[in-house]
Amino acid sequence: MSRCADQDQNEIATYEKQLFDLRQLLEISKSLSSTLDFNTLMETVLYICMGQMQALNVGLFTRKSFDSVYFSLNNNYKGFELDDSVEYVIKDEHPLISLLNRTNCCFTLEEIQNELGSMDGLEALSALEPDLIVPLKAKARVNGVLVLGGQISIDNNGFTEYEKEHILNIASLVAIAINTSALLEMTTTDMMTRLKLKHFFYTVLADQIEEAKGQEKPLCVLMMDIDHFKKFNDTYGHSCGDVVLQQVAHVIQNNVRSQDMAARYGGEEFCVMLCDTEPAIAKQVAERIRRSVETMEIVYENQHLSVTISLGVAAFNPKIDTTPKTFVDRADAALYVSKQEGRNRVTMAE
Ligand code: GH3
Ligand code: MG
Ligand code: MG
Repeated sequence: MSRCADQDQNEIATYEKQLFDLRQLLEISKSLSSTLDFNTLMETVLYICMGQMQALNVGLFTRKSFDSVYFSLNNNYKGFELDDSVEYVIKDEHPLISLLNRTNCCFTLEEIQNELGSMDGLEALSALEPDLIVPLKAKARVNGVLVLGGQISIDNNGFTEYEKEHILNIASLVAIAINTSALLEMTTTDMMTRLKLKHFFYTVLADQIEEAKGQEKPLCVLMMDIDHFKKFNDTYGHSCGDVVLQQVAHVIQNNVRSQDMAARYGGEEFCVMLCDTEPAIAKQVAERIRRSVETMEIVYENQHLSVTISLGVAAFNPKIDTTPKTFVDRADAALYVSKQEGRNRVTMAE
């Protein structure tokens, strides 16, 4: 083959590779934009980055909540071996974040060291020893940091300029998906208790009811109301009432699994959806929450407060629960019975 034909072949191969990568970007974009749940999103991103960059080690530093002032690794990594003595966080105010905000490129650890003059405050990165640090940027602001290492390649020259450009494109899609997911979290969460809001609870409950019907899975709902809550407001003031609300919400959240959903139903009323859960187990969960609230220690301005809650439990019954509301109302009616029978107790709906 002539040199000219050789050159043509090379060009065709390059274009084919670019076309393939563009198609991949389109697929990645579709997959990311259809994932709203943050944890699922993180898992998806890790696998995409491993596959696209042929990297064995991938990690994502993100804000745990929309108002966090640092980026943390949490469980969002694959391949890297973590050191227990290292805190895997990067502060919002660290110069690295302003560097990533200012620039639009990936860095190696050495390049970061040269740019910043020191690795102070970046112990998390030094410990991971990644080959590449990629900013996740949406609206020109960093909302995460991706780290890559352990590249599977024949030569050991690190990532090519083309690969860096490719991962920056993926990173910007990921950053938009993170923003969307954070926005959903923000608009569906009660800021005071950090539990979900009632309308979101009902949206998810409607889906869960459909699943329970289709797959004949048990589904239960708990309704809870703090006993004599007004006395905390009246005796110690509204801020005391707020502290009690936050503490009770915390106990509820800690007593349910990640696949369940706890919500603030109204003022001092809470509800929980227990998926794939038999009524007997739901009763145990309710009893555990009741007991945890009863035994929790709340100290407000040197006063020890004792708090109790009343609960009602309903198991989904397709024959009588025609809407999500009628289902929740049955749990509420059971809660009312708990109140009437002396409070600080659990009642199962008929
Ligand atoms: P019961 O045992 O019968 O439930 O008695 P209770 O005192 O808890 O009665 P009720 O449910 O009527 O009281 C609810 C009170 O909760 C009334 C309202 O002022 C207060 N409340 C509602 N939302 C908030 C809030 O966000 N913060 C504070 N501090 N109080 C709130
Ligand atoms: Mg009450
Ligand atoms: Mg009430």
